[in-house]
Amino acid sequence: MAQLLQTWDNTHFFQGTDDPRIATEIDAVKSEIASLVTGCEPFGDRIATAEILAPEQFAALIAEIKAIHLQRNSIVERLSNVHTFISSTLSVNAKDPDANIWLPTLQQIWATLTQAMTPVDVFLVRVSDAFVTALLADPALEELSFSVIHSRRLKDQLLSVDEEKIITGLAVTGLHGWGNLYDKLAGSLQCTINGESVGLAKAANLLGSDQRTTREAAWRGINQAWSGSQETVAMILNAINGWRLEETQQRGRIRTLHYLDKSCHQSRIERSTLDALMDSTYRHRAVGQRAMQAMAKALDLPKLAPWDVMAPPPVVGEAAAISFEAAIDLIAQAFSRLTPAMGDFAVMMAQKGWIDATPTPHRTTGAYCTKFANPREPRIFLTYEGTMGNVMTLAHELGHAWHNWVMIDLPVMKTRYSMTLAETASIFAETLVREALMQQAQDPAQQLEIAWQNAESAVSLLLNIPARFEFETRLVEARKTGFVIADQLSAMMHDSWAYWFEESLSEYDEMFWASKLHFSISQLGFYNYPYLFGYLFSLGIYAQRSKYGNQFNEVYTNLLRDTGSMTAEAVVQKHLGQDIRQSTFWEDSLKIVEQSIAQFEALVEQRQRSLTLV
Ligand SMILES: [Zn+2]
Repeated sequence: MAQLLQTWDNTHFFQGTDDPRIATEIDAVKSEIASLVTGCEPFGDRIATAEILAPEQFAALIAEIKAIHLQRNSIVERLSNVHTFISSTLSVNAKDPDANIWLPTLQQIWATLTQAMTPVDVFLVRVSDAFVTALLADPALEELSFSVIHSRRLKDQLLSVDEEKIITGLAVTGLHGWGNLYDKLAGSLQCTINGESVGLAKAANLLGSDQRTTREAAWRGINQAWSGSQETVAMILNAINGWRLEETQQRGRIRTLHYLDKSCHQSRIERSTLDALMDSTYRHRAVGQRAMQAMAKALDLPKLAPWDVMAPPPVVGEAAAISFEAAIDLIAQAFSRLTPAMGDFAVMMAQKGWIDATPTPHRTTGAYCTKFANPREPRIFLTYEGTMGNVMTLAHELGHAWHNWVMIDLPVMKTRYSMTLAETASIFAETLVREALMQQAQDPAQQLEIAWQNAESAVSLLLNIPARFEFETRLVEARKTGFVIADQLSAMMHDSWAYWFEESLSEYDEMFWASKLHFSISQLGFYNYPYLFGYLFSLGIYAQRSKYGNQFNEVYTNLLRDTGSMTAEAVVQKHLGQDIRQSTFWEDSLKIVEQSIAQFEALVEQRQRSLTLV
């Protein structure tokens, strides 16, 4: 394959972060919002009588809401374009001076937009069912169906317009200030590893080193660094969770809401689904533990330590780096087995320069998929250095991008899916690539390298993610009764790890509450279980291939297209005829993981035998 672009070209949006058109665009958006406020405000006074509106009043109000909706869509589109441009620039160069000034401005404008819309949002929750039916019958407003109906499920949790506005306004510097503090801290902490001072991002990469001493030094260095700031992180976690509990209490004047109910509402799943998912996984925790034992065996260790869980597979000699072109080619071939269009899409992403992968000096860590709103173009960010892990990350993000791509003709409001369903598309794409690689593998050594990825996923998703869930549940419960000090947080993390990992680790990661940024995300709690959901859910879908034969891609594509306008339960019922509130659905997926771990164990055994023979 010819050489591909590995650097974004976003110049058809703006020339650079110093492009004067950014300021012009932001000014235009601000005045649009000001005019939106004028249109929305009267709805504040209509809330009190919303439930008893006479049908003859409907038409005029629907016309007003339609104008507001169209204006809002246009604002969101323009603001998203600027925001994606600025945040993309910051990913590639965290030190870009203009982008660093624009970002907080943009966050402020988003909050202003939410505040502007509040009277209408509250009105639409309070109004009668008859009004909503009339409203959604309008073709221009039909795209609001899911979001309006879903919001109305929390009708009794809503506060007055003024109270809602106060919460949104105060949260910018209050609640989210704590999240920003964590990010600042993580960006400034230095770890001492083997006498050398390095930032956290670099230290995190060293956890994947093939040298055990380096991994241990990195793990200890990271924990040492966080220990020095543990009082600060304890303040952050207490503030964020205290804020959420207080807000939940304020909203619970009519009906008390459990903190997991709120998370499930955001994830668009029912509590019974979450319970079935977590209970089934707990019953099968031995699968993840077996993966750990086999990994330990392959690494000649009696047990894995926390610094070994990201160790690369043992290879004879140096593993050859995979070029970016080869990675795209490999992924495209794997995707094409589902449908050629998906393979062509992966190549197109790279040809158009929609993937930024080249290591740059002031690059942020991690990988993600984002998009521009107009024209709708996906973008992928990752740092590609030629490892098999990098190839899988690229496949994962291309899965997200494909999800966006198959929805490209849908109205924007119908393309907003929850995290649970987002992670389904990405992990499905990873599965396609792993399966293809496994079939192409020339010998057991290569098979082991690929099966290693399956084992690492099982450990991460069946044990680590649930341990995070366990910790967060304990944290929220403890925060109800008062401030939770750092030592208590460490003890809680210890117990959560013990609950899931049991005897499979030589020690537990007690500082994980501080070192894992996910607990300090101010926007939403219980950030982690959607990954477990996506993992098992995508395996469950993947397992249906033989049942649907040639129809499978159509079924899968239609399922993806509905993710923005249905709950997870409804999507699965409609497209696969299954009930995810039942353990059976999850058990079937766990059986697939169990099979891949059994295969991994056999490959490890085979390797050990061949080593003893030599
Ligand atoms: Zn993802």
